[in-house]
Amino acid sequence: MDRRSFLRLGASGIAGCVCGCATSRRSISSRLAIREDFIPDGKFGRQIHVPLRPSFITVHSTGSPGGTAAAHARLLREGKIRAKTQWNKRGFNIWHFTVDDREVIQHMPLNEAGEHADHDGPGNAKSIGIEICEFRDARQQRRALDRAAELVSDVRRSFGIGTSHIVPHYYWTMHRFNNWHKPCPAILMDGGKPGAKWDGFLRTVMRS
Ligand SMILES: [Zn+2]
Repeated sequence: MDRRSFLRLGASGIAGCVCGCATSRRSISSRLAIREDFIPDGKFGRQIHVPLRPSFITVHSTGSPGGTAAAHARLLREGKIRAKTQWNKRGFNIWHFTVDDREVIQHMPLNEAGEHADHDGPGNAKSIGIEICEFRDARQQRRALDRAAELVSDVRRSFGIGTSHIVPHYYWTMHRFNNWHKPCPAILMDGGKPGAKWDGFLRTVMRS
């Protein structure tokens, strides 16, 4: 493990390691206060630990307007977000961060792969999953998007992830579903695909 591997954790000051070793918790250096509300270890999708060395960031939006980060954290912690397909071998959808207009919550360690993108595909195997909360109020949505951009920027820097590896869920091919591409994050799609809104979000990330 080299010195580069050690990163400062803004929220609690715990040192983390990004080298893939299992000796310490991995975390990001963030300007945002990140609250940890972890899915219980051994349950609700974390009964299997798939090692993750993140080289992508996958951005989603929740699809549940009005649902806050805290509400999603509770659903994850209580095992209420069950898999909808047989291809999700964990039985639950799980991801790393949810961000709303007020806070960022981390749900699982960053050295464990989630189940949020493409079942047994590279999206889950290689990426940190970030869900942006959806709101009907435009100003609230704007704040959530700005905060999400800041989080993506911080995660990107912490793990040395290049801009081309910041991707919408849409990017990953659902090879279990006739190579479908999910139009997600819905709030950043144009006509069901990445376009001007996604490009604008990426620009905000790069300015953050
Ligand atoms: Zn998604």
